[in-house]
Amino acid sequence: MSETVWRVAIPSPLRRLFDYLPPDTPVSGPVAGRRVRVPFGSRQLVGLVVETGEADPAMPRSRLRRISRLLDEAPVVPADMLRLALWSVSYYHHPPGEVLEHLLPVALRRGEAATRSAERWWQLSEEGRHLSPGDLARAPRQQRILARLQQAGGALPAAELQDLGEGWQGVMRRMEEKGLVAGEERGLTVALPSEPVDGGVALNERQQTAVEAISSHLDGFSCHLLEGVTGSGKTEVYLALMRRILAQGRQCLVLVPEIALTPQLTQRFRDSLPARIGLYHSGMNERERRDTWLAARDGELDVLIGTRSAVFLPLKHPGLMILDEEHDPAFKQQDGFRYSARDLALVRARQQALPVVLGSATPSLESLRNARDGRYQALALPKRAGKAKPPLIRTVDLRGQDLDGGLSGQLLTALDRHLRAGNQALLFLNRRGYAPVLICNQCGWTADCSRCDARMTYHRGRGSLDCHHCGNSRRLPRACPECASEKLGVAGQGTEKLEQVLSRRFPDVGVVRIDRDTTRRRGEMDARLQAAREGRARLLIGTQMLAKGHDFPDLTLVGLVDADQGLMSADFRGPERTAQLITQVAGRAGRGEKPGEVLIQTRVPDHPLLETLIQGGYGAFADAALRERNEAGFPPYSHLALLRAEAHQREAVNAFLEEAVDEGSRRASQELLLMGPVPAPMERRAGRYRAQVLIQAEARPALHALLRDWAPWLEGLKSARKVRWSLDVDPIDL
Ligand code: ADP
Ligand code: ZN
Ligand code: ZN
Repeated sequence: MSETVWRVAIPSPLRRLFDYLPPDTPVSGPVAGRRVRVPFGSRQLVGLVVETGEADPAMPRSRLRRISRLLDEAPVVPADMLRLALWSVSYYHHPPGEVLEHLLPVALRRGEAATRSAERWWQLSEEGRHLSPGDLARAPRQQRILARLQQAGGALPAAELQDLGEGWQGVMRRMEEKGLVAGEERGLTVALPSEPVDGGVALNERQQTAVEAISSHLDGFSCHLLEGVTGSGKTEVYLALMRRILAQGRQCLVLVPEIALTPQLTQRFRDSLPARIGLYHSGMNERERRDTWLAARDGELDVLIGTRSAVFLPLKHPGLMILDEEHDPAFKQQDGFRYSARDLALVRARQQALPVVLGSATPSLESLRNARDGRYQALALPKRAGKAKPPLIRTVDLRGQDLDGGLSGQLLTALDRHLRAGNQALLFLNRRGYAPVLICNQCGWTADCSRCDARMTYHRGRGSLDCHHCGNSRRLPRACPECASEKLGVAGQGTEKLEQVLSRRFPDVGVVRIDRDTTRRRGEMDARLQAAREGRARLLIGTQMLAKGHDFPDLTLVGLVDADQGLMSADFRGPERTAQLITQVAGRAGRGEKPGEVLIQTRVPDHPLLETLIQGGYGAFADAALRERNEAGFPPYSHLALLRAEAHQREAVNAFLEEAVDEGSRRASQELLLMGPVPAPMERRAGRYRAQVLIQAEARPALHALLRDWAPWLEGLKSARKVRWSLDVDPIDL
């Protein structure tokens, strides 16, 4: 009889599980989903037991090593999540060890005990109780804490205070030092149920229809695409559904594309749901993530709000999944294990018999097609809720105009008018820094990155030239390195320059810039959004960080400073992205009772995409784009995978990819097309040459049949050892 072994997933780039002999001491109960410490080479690693089985008879017993230690007395990962991860391994053809890692928060991956920590509770001290908000006028964050604790009337656990924004603990400690608040360690209960202050708005007819339609499918798998224009009240639909799920004692998982969107949503949920709410995203520390993960698994949180990685949060009584802004590319992980959280949410819903709601004002073409083919239930909210009207959208022809910092006369006049009326305006420019090009006016030299095929961006505040692709940075040269001329100039503009130009022009309105440079420090993003929401800042400048989901009721003017950037994209998904971005940014205008206006600056005002979008809206654009994709045979009418490789030597990359293509073509069935190798869109990045092979298939089975055998074969190639390579199934950027 052959030996029983445990198959263990270990963080390793190899596409296989590893067999170990069970530990010496007897073990009772199921072992799949427990963590173990195992010898691996000369190291000891933490792995996750996937299954038990029989040892491969070809493997001499002497080569089998034994599990060193069992870390859990019961499975730490529930069986349903293990199943989701194993499905992902076979779909993405990624090494199981790296996939299964995603099932656990970092603290547990390292082997720490799967128990929750004690938690600090905060309340006002005697002195704090006698304070009025005016006493803290110069410390707005302390003021918020004061208000929160006054409202609570007693002690609150740290988990309940997360929505105070990043860095609130530091502010709290300062208040503790001043004797205004008192902290105390208590055993953890993660979160208290919020006490809703509003019972929800009265839903309009469309919202009601959507809620009813979805509610009749709450007991099994179903998928619903909620297509609602910005401000149409999608969030109210989510809330109504969540109330029903919560009343059944089940949990809701809500995924959003970006951390920045979580505080606003958390607040709204807290105001209207009787629920214990938990957050899960990369901005939290390891301990917080571990605690939320465990509490979600144990059913001690009712609503979980998270980013992409939260699709792997275990739930004890799952009832509903919601993906807000489902079209957002941030749901796709772009390195390592390249999964789509949206697609995995669907798989999870099917496996666990759950309803899932995909919401967006600008659904992805994939989801729209699924809805049209009847695989998803399509629900529409075509009008804004309440009194808000759709914004008026116009293009501004930049040809032949003198611009000031990239701004046309029309846009400046409109800014003046809206700001003078006491409203807010938002200028969108998807390019951070001061200027994208530094050029010598004498000889034409431009500052290029030495490690990438890209220009370096001039950052004036820092006095540096930065590469946005590899992080390479150097001080601004005083003179041209080629001809020693000091006549260095810039071309184009980024958000930093816009901020400078506009602060001079509108000194009294409060200009706030939101991009990756201004929000790097903890708490900055929140502080800036808060200033905008409270009207202390009335002119907002931002990159796409500012385009998503934020709600500023006094915002009446939106200006797109450079629409051409997106219109000129070469990627087949370029038009879709651009249409989504324009529609989303435009949707920030006029969400309250005041009407909104949108100006789109362009040098191609008659571009078909712009014309379709302005005349027919996103729906008309999507119809046209789906027809084009169909004719060109691109997704969602075909399926793609991308094999990428990079190395310091171009020859190494080509040698590997050519070998890959030869073998791939030999193995591929008729329905498959292998294209390449071709250089990546930016061939050199961070000092490495990059190239790729695209695999296109009409039907998924043929694609996966190839990848299943091809991937392990590639892994064994000698030429593979000289490159970094990866497979991307359903890539979103080519
Ligand atoms: P979305 O999520 O689609 O962008 P929201 O749910 O945020 O839209 O709603 C936009 C605004 O309209 C919010 O201020 C919300 O309170 C309000 N609203 C939503 N539904 C209704 C309704 N039925 N009646 C009145 N106001 C509503
Ligand atoms: Zn020069
Ligand atoms: Zn670079």
